[in-house]
Amino acid sequence: MYADVAVCLPLWRTFLYSVPEPLPTATRVEIPFGTRQIQGFVVGARAEPPEDMDPDTIRPVTGVLDPAPLIRPDIFRLCRWIADYYAAPLGEVLKSALPPNITARHVAAFDGGTTAPAEIRPRVDLTPAQAAALETIRARDGFHPVLLHGVTGSGKTEIYMRAIEECRAHGRTALVLVPEIGLTPQVRERFAARFGPQMALIHSALKPRQRIDEWLRIYNRRAPIVIGTRSALFAPLEDLGVIIVDEEHESSYKQDDLPRYNARDSAVMRAKMSGAPVVLGSATPSMETFRNAETGRYAYVHLPDRVEARTLPDVTIVNMREEYVRQGRQAVFSDRLLTGIRDRVDRGEQSIVLLNRRGYSMFLLCRRCGHSFHCRDCSVSMTYHRKTRRLLCHYCGHWQRPRDACPDCGSEYIQYVGEGTEQLEQLLNDLLPDARVARVDRDTMRHLRDFDRVFGEFRKGALDILVGTQMVAKGHDFPKVTLVGVVSADAALGLPDFRAAERTFQLLTQVAGRSGRGDVPGEVVIQSYFPDHYAFQLAARQRFEDFYRREAHFRRVMFYPPFTSLAGIMVLETSRERAARLARKIADFLDAERPGPVRILGPAPAPLEKLNKTYRHQLLVKSAAREPLHALLGRLRRFLEDTKAPPGRVIIDVDPMTLM
Ligand code: ADP
Ligand code: ZN
Ligand code: ZN
Repeated sequence: MYADVAVCLPLWRTFLYSVPEPLPTATRVEIPFGTRQIQGFVVGARAEPPEDMDPDTIRPVTGVLDPAPLIRPDIFRLCRWIADYYAAPLGEVLKSALPPNITARHVAAFDGGTTAPAEIRPRVDLTPAQAAALETIRARDGFHPVLLHGVTGSGKTEIYMRAIEECRAHGRTALVLVPEIGLTPQVRERFAARFGPQMALIHSALKPRQRIDEWLRIYNRRAPIVIGTRSALFAPLEDLGVIIVDEEHESSYKQDDLPRYNARDSAVMRAKMSGAPVVLGSATPSMETFRNAETGRYAYVHLPDRVEARTLPDVTIVNMREEYVRQGRQAVFSDRLLTGIRDRVDRGEQSIVLLNRRGYSMFLLCRRCGHSFHCRDCSVSMTYHRKTRRLLCHYCGHWQRPRDACPDCGSEYIQYVGEGTEQLEQLLNDLLPDARVARVDRDTMRHLRDFDRVFGEFRKGALDILVGTQMVAKGHDFPKVTLVGVVSADAALGLPDFRAAERTFQLLTQVAGRSGRGDVPGEVVIQSYFPDHYAFQLAARQRFEDFYRREAHFRRVMFYPPFTSLAGIMVLETSRERAARLARKIADFLDAERPGPVRILGPAPAPLEKLNKTYRHQLLVKSAAREPLHALLGRLRRFLEDTKAPPGRVIIDVDPMTLM
């Protein structure tokens, strides 16, 4: 007997091994591969080897890792779809569907006891708008996608929980996906208070053993409700009653490593395969999802108002060019923002200040010769971190000590340019010595407990100001925050990315939503050098639909999603010349093979040409229809296999989130 095995390596094709007896699909096996032993999954069986293969060259499977496959047929089907759609190696997809390092022994040893029944707790009465939304979700049996477009604080989470309760009442299970940073203590507490021991939590901060334990609880039907980040998509729930994707627009749903899948879109597919409704919730839906609602593929529910008629905050956009003239110097804070923060401290209210840049100074520059301090291994400047006294590359982690003199010309006039969150924190401490300030960014928030501590203190009122990157913008509900400031809202607009305006609009709308969630109305101050940009103007007035139309026009004209299907192809090589050569070769192949409606852009060096010592050249494939794009990518995969390009040298990214 023979088995087709998808190996856990970045290879698209499968390999044939002999087996003493047929193994069920999705069985994990150990196999010899070259000189190594690696893992793989059985994905097919045959009685005879193909004619062109010498049976003597076929090696046997050396180990069967699980007595029964841990991946059930429905999850296998989902993995297969992901592998096809995202041009991802099936073995890698299957591997990511299981907790790392799970063994048959873990599975055999599981003793989860029984699940405590959920307590019935008194609940709030739904507002009429919420009730109508819930009605739409359960309007039909079977697969049925719903976009729940509700401003921050409109009660979406309450609707999710109600939908879950109902599906539990019918004995079915529920899956809730949240973005990477969405599992704030508050969200966890709210769900835990309602669903307690019935719930399993899956997120990136779990230790490997915890992850296995949570997975086993789900697998053994002890946890019918799963809340988790991206990889929870693969939770082995049976009889799914509803899938919820909160903050569906978040780019963290796209894995930027192999396998490159988008958990939101894959969740819609899982719902379709399970015949379940799927709810995509957001205050700022992605262009793709809103387009699906517009064309009627998704049902659409709008919650335009906050619960209990709390008003949306008052937004001011400060023109920093005028501010420069007025203050006579390059100020970090406008008068308006600083006065606002000071007033809040005096009144015992709270402020959040967003700057989407960590570190102390964005880069260092020699004033005499213009030398800038680049990373040794990447084509980016290094960021100065003052506390650790390091020049740090945010892409590869390489660091060095800052020097007092320019390595090129010896000049001592080194200028520190562009403030980051670390500097902002210090400035606020200097300017407002009585204020209690905490910083929230990747440098200060290393563990889940850091979030718990800082957000807990802020909630209690033990802090006046939170300064941070986008981590402060998302999902939190702090009733005493009455001011949100955005320092340098322009940061993301300059990026060479067709989603730059969308990202900026989303971030500003989200962070503005943190203000005025309690009884006192909120204020938002946005600082910008381009105050007239539509992303700012429309975010300030929370005009989502106007933004959508404006942006849709640009996307349509430029042939970008949601009006085109897009795939990025990135070549990684050890030198610029080799990268350019392989990219050219791929471009020639695609040009020759491409069907009419497909366009090829490039090859060209990626905006971030060098990363981690690797040179990156890219191509974009655009297609008005999805089918020809996928067919072409299939041919490209075979072409790459035939040319024996080493694994991982060419990255195919379907529906890319960034083009960097
Ligand atoms: P969203 O998820 O849209 O940001 P939430 O569900 O968190 O909104 O609701 C915002 C706030 O309003 C929360 O404090 C929540 O407890 C409260 N809330 C939600 N629904 C109701 C309701 N029907 N009656 C009273 N309060 C509600
Ligand atoms: Zn110099
Ligand atoms: Zn680097």
